[in-house]
Amino acid sequence: MGHIRPLNAAAKPGGAFVDPNGLQIDNVRKVFGDLEAIRNVTINIKEGEFVSLLGPSGCGKSTLLMMIAGLTRPTSGTLRLAGKPIIGPDSNVGVVFQSPVLLPWRTILDNILFPIELRRLPRSQYLPRARELLKMSKLEDFADALPRQLSGGMRQRASICRALIHDPSTLLMDEPFSALDAITRDDMAFELLRIWQSNQKTVVFVTHSIREAAILSDRVLVMGKRPATIVDEVEIDLPRPRERTMPEEESFNAIVRRLRTSIEASHA
Ligand code: ADP
Ligand code: MG
Repeated sequence: MGHIRPLNAAAKPGGAFVDPNGLQIDNVRKVFGDLEAIRNVTINIKEGEFVSLLGPSGCGKSTLLMMIAGLTRPTSGTLRLAGKPIIGPDSNVGVVFQSPVLLPWRTILDNILFPIELRRLPRSQYLPRARELLKMSKLEDFADALPRQLSGGMRQRASICRALIHDPSTLLMDEPFSALDAITRDDMAFELLRIWQSNQKTVVFVTHSIREAAILSDRVLVMGKRPATIVDEVEIDLPRPRERTMPEEESFNAIVRRLRTSIEASHA
């Protein structure tokens, strides 16, 4: 059964425990012109924790993730990773964007190896890992293809490989599976869990899928409508490793119902 925290003023959702090696988002606000997108969000994520940000389209999930990635600055408030203020992109953080961003003139293999080149690491050392990631994503026959020769879903899978190639300690993923068909989506989700479990990364995973958030996460933060705040927090204390049969269990469905109720209440 998911541990469900009561919501009251004293127990603000977002995570009260501060891990010095984790990710701290403190009172962050983001305004675009006269549109307030994010209002005073405070989130504490432990090192190695898998946290999902769940909310419907337009609620500010990508904006928050881009601030964590150091690609957008908050209007006010602070973000810290392992104690260091986030002021720009960090090479120890892998980002998967909502739409795949690949260099059109590079082959799929060379796109995946791009972070290795940027970090001036030896290509030959990472080639076997690149091949393994291609195989995992069912792209092994497309290593030498150009991005335009691939479908949107295949390009998204290549972007995920690229975010994983240098084994970053933090992974930020913005609806990474939303362009994939249901079967591939499940395969990629469980592969992500396997990778996360074998080398404990901190993951911030943005999704509008309640089921996906519940399957993957240690903790789900529900975002309310604009200006976004964290309106609910649910610990998903289902056993690990998560199983594909989990959605058939009542404990899983209780969590899904709880998350759905929260979203409906905050977006009514
Ligand atoms: P989500 O990812 O949850 O769908 P976004 O973070 O993309 O939501 O957007 C949240 C709100 O902020 C939306 O109303 C969107 O139009 C607005 N927004 C996002 N980025 C910008 C921007 N660069 N300039 C102006 N408004 C923006
Ligand atoms: Mg988005």
